[in-house]
Amino acid sequence: MAKYVFVTGGVVSSIGKGITAAAIGRLLKSRGITVSVQKLDPYLNVDPGTMSPYQHGEVFVTTDGAETDLDLGHYERFIDSDLTQSSNVTAGQIYTAVIARERRGDFLGGTIQVIPHVTNAIKAKITGNAEESGAQVVIVEVGGTVGDIESLPFLEAIRQVRNDVGRDDALFVHVTYLPYIITSGELKTKPTQHSVRELRSIGIQPDVIAARSDYPIDQEIIEKLSLFCDVETRAVIPLPNVDTIYRVPVHLEETGLDAFLVERLGLEAAGPPDLKDWRELVRRIEEPKPSLSIAIVGKYVELHDSYLSVKEALHHAGLAKDVNVDIEWVPAEDLEHPSWERYLERAHGIIVPGGFGSRGIEGMVRAARYARERELPFLGLCLGMQVMVIEYARHVLGWIGANSTEFDLEAPYPVIHIMEDQENVEAMGGTMRLGAYPCELVPGTRTHDTYAVPSISERHRHRFEFNNRFKQDLRDAGLVASGIYKEKNLVEICEIRDHPFMLGSQFHPEFQSRPTRPHPLFREFVAAATAIHREGEQPPLLPDGEPIPAPTDQPDPQTRGIRSAS
Ligand code: GLN
Repeated sequence: MAKYVFVTGGVVSSIGKGITAAAIGRLLKSRGITVSVQKLDPYLNVDPGTMSPYQHGEVFVTTDGAETDLDLGHYERFIDSDLTQSSNVTAGQIYTAVIARERRGDFLGGTIQVIPHVTNAIKAKITGNAEESGAQVVIVEVGGTVGDIESLPFLEAIRQVRNDVGRDDALFVHVTYLPYIITSGELKTKPTQHSVRELRSIGIQPDVIAARSDYPIDQEIIEKLSLFCDVETRAVIPLPNVDTIYRVPVHLEETGLDAFLVERLGLEAAGPPDLKDWRELVRRIEEPKPSLSIAIVGKYVELHDSYLSVKEALHHAGLAKDVNVDIEWVPAEDLEHPSWERYLERAHGIIVPGGFGSRGIEGMVRAARYARERELPFLGLCLGMQVMVIEYARHVLGWIGANSTEFDLEAPYPVIHIMEDQENVEAMGGTMRLGAYPCELVPGTRTHDTYAVPSISERHRHRFEFNNRFKQDLRDAGLVASGIYKEKNLVEICEIRDHPFMLGSQFHPEFQSRPTRPHPLFREFVAAATAIHREGEQPPLLPDGEPIPAPTDQPDPQTRGIRSAS
């Protein structure tokens, strides 16, 4: 039977609870213990797929096609295994299922209540993940902060699971924050005491307090937390800021947390931790390296978490190539204004990541043209691939007005169009082409050389696709389809023939990159950008005469920097 580590958060959000859960997973795995990680999100959306990235950050897609919380990306990168949709449970899913059962008549005669109906449904998801994964330890992170109204059923459910499985087989880790008061020069424990009191009031006594802080935490503070929160001193784990998230497992091991967990959960039969690879990773991260500048031209760049997996994948690739990838976040609309080139001047490579809706598209097209004409390495991810095709059609084939039907239904050259099976889709949630699909690579292409295998499997999240009607013309002009989903004859990846590195994928390779196993597309993109960097090449100036719609001087306040859902 599985054992459980429940991770809750106190005081404030955004203190790295997800990374702590992921790091605990890594630590246990490094002792040969099999682990699964699950995130319980108390919000009422069924999944984050319909939320704005500004609300929620990136939507992480699992191989089985679930649109999930970005913490699942951390989990996969830290424990280095693929998770499934059962690893992300939301209140929206729970309530939908409970109400559907009520309508079906499953509870005839009964009053449906949060306790036990909602809590039982949550418990079934927790134990269901344990059964499905077969893991020895399931780490369950509860989203939000203790004290939130909507967290209550989830906290009650984990309390009951502990009661069901017994005290020896489940424990609670509470991640809190110690604010620092500058005027008195002190770290404060009171908010943590309050949040532990709040937890206790619902019947949960934490076994471990992981205390986040922006400053070093001394022994006196640890003892104070131990005394007032009734947690063993050795189970008060200081978590000061670290220079890289990948140091967290190493740090936690040094604090003795894994030894404590192993002892309390009776997992002594497992071996000692083997963090050799992970220590080597941290050493390589911290080693001084030349910096490479990569521009990410996107719609939601103000919130870097919107592109979390892209950021991490670049970081992993940089490590493999001994460079430090310095990301320049370029709002796509800023490229729609005069003197736009200055935003790209320092870049050794450009990425146009995924996105939805027309805002910023013309700026992205400019970025693709800039990269193509200056022979600057370019990687287009989903929307970025679509933009790369639009740009090529417009400026190489001269097809004025070439576009995606997502942005122009009347486009004379709809080089990107809606997928056949998406045409009649009306509901927005969970209806895109989602999850992993196989793709056959075309021999003789850069894509094929980069992956060095004949077929791949990559994760998708889109409604539009490359229009095969224009495939031959584009190919003749030098834009080559380099990977195909055979069953439906869909172009999944394409490349520019006469360019050092210009590739666009309809899928999202970033979801499969791991710190010790960078994704081949990112690795080769960074390698190509590094070559330019090392040669100290200054890209030539872009010729005038842009057929791009006339830019306006001032950014449109309706579309700039506003956290809208579009
Ligand atoms: N909006 C585009 C589509 O739906 C691209 C999606 C994406 O970048 N994930 O096809």
